[in-house]
Amino acid sequence: MAFIDPHIHMVSRTTADYEAMAAAGVVAVIEPAFWQGQPRTTAGSFQDYFATLVGFERFRASQFGIRHYCTIGLNSKEANNERLADEVMEMLPLYLTKEGVVAIGEIGFDDQTALEEKYLRLQLELAVEVDLPILIHTPHRNKKRGTYRTMDIIEDLGIAPHRVVIDHNNEETCKEVLDRGYWCAFTIYPRTKMGNERVVEIIRQYGTERVIIDSSADWGVSDALAVPKTARLMEQAGITNDQIEIVTYQNALAAYSPSGQFREEDWLNPTPIDQRTLFQGNSVLRGGQSPRVDEAGEELIIR
Ligand SMILES: [Zn+2]
Repeated sequence: MAFIDPHIHMVSRTTADYEAMAAAGVVAVIEPAFWQGQPRTTAGSFQDYFATLVGFERFRASQFGIRHYCTIGLNSKEANNERLADEVMEMLPLYLTKEGVVAIGEIGFDDQTALEEKYLRLQLELAVEVDLPILIHTPHRNKKRGTYRTMDIIEDLGIAPHRVVIDHNNEETCKEVLDRGYWCAFTIYPRTKMGNERVVEIIRQYGTERVIIDSSADWGVSDALAVPKTARLMEQAGITNDQIEIVTYQNALAAYSPSGQFREEDWLNPTPIDQRTLFQGNSVLRGGQSPRVDEAGEELIIR
């Protein structure tokens, strides 16, 4: 089975993660721009981070047989630094039009401050202007209030819910998110709020329409294999392969393909892995390591 992990922060992950993900069937990932564990102090740090998402990280994924896409946006935490936020807003249009950018995101609320609302609204308007889907981060504290407030703002701006993926849902929010017509994503967090047994129950209860599973794996306690593991758990729970494919592949494809950047043929006809390839003069190999070089049709040959 092939999987898409539509929310994972690969800059924080290792090459071993890429190898394990590819072996488990992950064919494509979407990396949302987010904060990095500590606040950035200059706009240049954002610029270099965005450049990495559309540049080296995209290349690095390709060296392990995974197609990498990203979303670009000003995250909610750092929206509270108004001077910096204004500078980031200025550079967003440039990065939103780069190859492989499938949405504006992840944007939304953290502490639900006035400044967070200001930059959420500005970025929603920008998404309409550049005609891209939207990825919403919902807050971990006061989740229900923050999620409802986010949907109210989206609707206030007249944005159609089918253009918007709302992520980090739980039992408390998912019914309303689905009823109001949004894509409803669940992040599988190990040992916390949303383990995958709970997601299996939610799918039993609400079905698979507009439901998306992701790992949101990053620098913290997280699991880069959350999507394939949840697929196996669903299988054991008697959920059909068709239903599993809808929540671990098809819905993410449908949600992000309006960007014009998220195309199945990218990974259905992949260029063979060639780790001799360089990105701006650099490779994923360190001195003396031998490159993996696959030939087209290699998968058919038994040696
Ligand atoms: Zn995230």
